[in-house]
Amino acid sequence: MSSKVRVRYAPSPTGELHIGNARTALFNYLFARHHGGDFIIRTEDTDLIRNIEQGESSQLDNLTWLNIEWDEAVDKPNPQYAPYRQSERLHIYEPLIQQLLDEDKAYRCYMTSEELDAEAQAQREAGETPRYGGAHAHLTPEQEQAFIDEGRDYSIRFRVNSEAVYAFDDIVKGDISFKANDVAGDFVILKRDGMPTYNFAVTVDDHYMDITHVLRGDDHIANTPRQMMIYEAFGWEPPRFGHMTLIINEEGRKLSKRDGGIIQFIEQYRDLGYLPEALFNFVALLGWSPEGEEELFTQEELIKIFDENRLSNSPAAFDRDKLLWIGNEYMKKADLQRVVDLAFPHLIKAGLVEDNPSQETIEWATRLVGLYQEQMAYGAQIVELASLFFNEDLKLDQASIDELSSETGLVVVKAIKEKLTQLPEEEFVAENVRPLMNEIRDEHDIRGRQLFMPIRIAVSGVMSGPEVPDLIELLGKEKVLDHIHQVEQQIS
Ligand code: GLU
Repeated sequence: MSSKVRVRYAPSPTGELHIGNARTALFNYLFARHHGGDFIIRTEDTDLIRNIEQGESSQLDNLTWLNIEWDEAVDKPNPQYAPYRQSERLHIYEPLIQQLLDEDKAYRCYMTSEELDAEAQAQREAGETPRYGGAHAHLTPEQEQAFIDEGRDYSIRFRVNSEAVYAFDDIVKGDISFKANDVAGDFVILKRDGMPTYNFAVTVDDHYMDITHVLRGDDHIANTPRQMMIYEAFGWEPPRFGHMTLIINEEGRKLSKRDGGIIQFIEQYRDLGYLPEALFNFVALLGWSPEGEEELFTQEELIKIFDENRLSNSPAAFDRDKLLWIGNEYMKKADLQRVVDLAFPHLIKAGLVEDNPSQETIEWATRLVGLYQEQMAYGAQIVELASLFFNEDLKLDQASIDELSSETGLVVVKAIKEKLTQLPEEEFVAENVRPLMNEIRDEHDIRGRQLFMPIRIAVSGVMSGPEVPDLIELLGKEKVLDHIHQVEQQIS
């Protein structure tokens, strides 16, 4: 085994990049970079039926978006290890399968799917866990010939030593051991369609690609003893394994792809206009935490402080509020132009800005986004946040009505209306609005929230939003006075 750390992310191209897989990729990436090792992406495409077109390219594309760079993959082959798609490595698996057959560590099984199903069904009915019972484990050459003559095809099964125990020191979970007998009957390593199974291919590839550490989701933990059996059969040294706990939703259940409440695919976050570095930071804290309380880290910092021994052994809870908080922290610090680029498509999609906006519209929308940047966690939020700029009708909620109907509220609304009415349109800018608010404060001795809140509600209809003078400037005189008028109707 090479001494340099080499880890891999091994996606099956059966779908888009899921947040759980992104996390696996991300931790492998951080681990490799932290230890000055290599990060490899291997495409596990042996399930011909479930593979989807673009499965591989969209995974790579979304990893690139997340700024997870790899050292080797289909697009960056190292001749020593290529190819990086399992479907192109069949010539590597074939002689190894043959070797196992020759050494009687594997055998051909001619049972049909119907026979296997019937066996499993009978076991289930007897209250047993279905497993291959070994019916074809010791066929005579004559029996084999008879099956061949019948025209049956075969799969190849690995002969499990049911007495053996497979133990390993898991990076995340500590000492683990499996009795072979509890894990599996003789399992398939080559399917009838000529493709190797996951457990066989992954073992061969991890070995030949000099993978030193396998960090993956703990849904694979029961596969590990099977893989260890194969390492053993070839006399190879296994890598170190680490099985990360799954991500759970707020109800404590495993994240399922049908979970409507949680956005599951990286592509969707991208479409919503999240900043990739915010998502990177968020995903890095899903099941891993550094020492201390700090939660905001750049990628470089994460590489520096990443410690695989701090991967959590309890399920990682997906915390939506934390995602929004992290998203907002990054948004606040981002260049306005980046925020605009993330928000603009959503204004267009919502029909609030025309498709080919004029320079004037672009400038206006840039100011609009600037107004809300402090409040945004992702680009699409602009549509909701800035809705008062697009809605013709303001509808006050009861709390706002109460606020305005108070003694001071009524005074403030009347006063701001008068002052703004007198302010000429060309002077309708934030720096002229501030002194007007101070005048009201001095004339009526109303200050603080009692002053600002009624003005905010009167011009915008809602109780939160950007700085009031900036809001007034961007809304412009006509809209501001129209809003105040509408608001007055609802409190009288
Ligand atoms: N192709 C497997 C998966 O997508 C990889 C598992 C592993 O890392 O060994 O789950």
